[in-house]
Amino acid sequence: MTRTDIARLRALDEAHVIHPHRPVTHPGTVIIDRGAGCLIWDVEGREYLDATAGLAVTHVGHAHPALVAAATEQLGRLEYYPSFWEYGNPRAIELAARLAALAPTGPGKVFFTSGGSEGIEAALRMARFYHHEGGEPGRTVVLARTSAYHGVGYGSGSLTGFADYHVGFAPMLPDVRHLTPPWSYRRELFDGADPTDFCVRELERVIAEVGPGRIAAFVGEPVMGVAGMVTPPADYWPRIVDVLRANGILFVADEVICAYGRTGHWFATERYGVTPDITVTAKGLTSGYVPLGAVLVSTEVAARLDRGPDGFPIGYTYSGHPTACAVAMANLDVIERDGLVERSASLGARLLDDLSALADRSAVGEVRGAGLMLGLELVRDTPAGPDIGANVSRYIRAKHGVIIRNHDNVLSISPPLVVTDEQADRIVDAVRDALDRLDPDGTVS
Ligand code: PMP
Repeated sequence: MTRTDIARLRALDEAHVIHPHRPVTHPGTVIIDRGAGCLIWDVEGREYLDATAGLAVTHVGHAHPALVAAATEQLGRLEYYPSFWEYGNPRAIELAARLAALAPTGPGKVFFTSGGSEGIEAALRMARFYHHEGGEPGRTVVLARTSAYHGVGYGSGSLTGFADYHVGFAPMLPDVRHLTPPWSYRRELFDGADPTDFCVRELERVIAEVGPGRIAAFVGEPVMGVAGMVTPPADYWPRIVDVLRANGILFVADEVICAYGRTGHWFATERYGVTPDITVTAKGLTSGYVPLGAVLVSTEVAARLDRGPDGFPIGYTYSGHPTACAVAMANLDVIERDGLVERSASLGARLLDDLSALADRSAVGEVRGAGLMLGLELVRDTPAGPDIGANVSRYIRAKHGVIIRNHDNVLSISPPLVVTDEQADRIVDAVRDALDRLDPDGTVS
């Protein structure tokens, strides 16, 4: 691309594109033009190691020929047709059966969406509808956690537990309660108690306050992504789910980031030994080649959803999109054939070790992770200041050509599951160098 072409693109971008979450003082758009495996290139020809897999999406890496072929073939056969009413298509049917066989919810049914927010919206509707059909229409309250991210629909956005995501958009959905996340590193959240004890007691108290017959569901990410890859204590989910079961509350696992191998398991709830009623997935289902989400529903919940005269009465235009489903099948083939779930577990454990070796740097508070979903929490208060995460991730991109993300003061690393050993070393080297060059004022020089 010539300098003039690039200048034209930049001008058009400034004039016409609304970028999500773009700060007013942004350093300029990195215009990404192509990718291969874990590498991507911008329009200026600069190469980057994509250590975030986009937004934790690209499990099989960029431009995988098997997914390209699957999409091309399906586009030439039947690009799109809806799945409403009596219609269906072979790709969506085959994919639903395959997901039902894999699902942590047991071999139930699948509802297709185009992404994570839509999946959470559907799960919310399912939870309320399930109780409505079961003769408990008063169960409308939904429990979520602060620092959780569940999307930006008005339902999913109301569950999202960051106060600043609600500013300017209120009023949010009523009947949503946010509980404390199991963020053990933030000891101040737990009044000196054990984090799991605190969270379980708080859940019991809220159930008593709201009334057990009023709560439809608890929605939670098994490992919290946007919060900064927050991995709960091992006993958190089993104890929380016990309380939910005892009170007839559905457990909705938001595995939009976690599912399909990201945490070293097909589903992160397997890691914690719990069985959800509904699992919401997206991202890694197609590695992002085509937008697709799938809500996996237990047999028991599905049976009630299908009972009404009009079945489950919501749908998206793109539910069961044939091309997206064909790509998902090819993507799952690659994950299975190349052992990417196991790869995520083994390489993730190695990366966690290597990054943990940096924990003696004074700016490092905690290193944590599950599979290839890793977080390095930098100490925000002293001595480094609030912009420490942004400063470090910007330096790593500029100096090392490695793209990592920061969520506030947490560095988040989530490369494609096909990341090589050498690329993993490059990520660790880049983080080490940045930490070694970190000044007390939180800048990197
Ligand atoms: N849930 C979780 C846990 C997520 O991380 C995200 C997206 N980052 C969403 C829901 C929303 O997904 P989408 O952006 O596809 O709507």
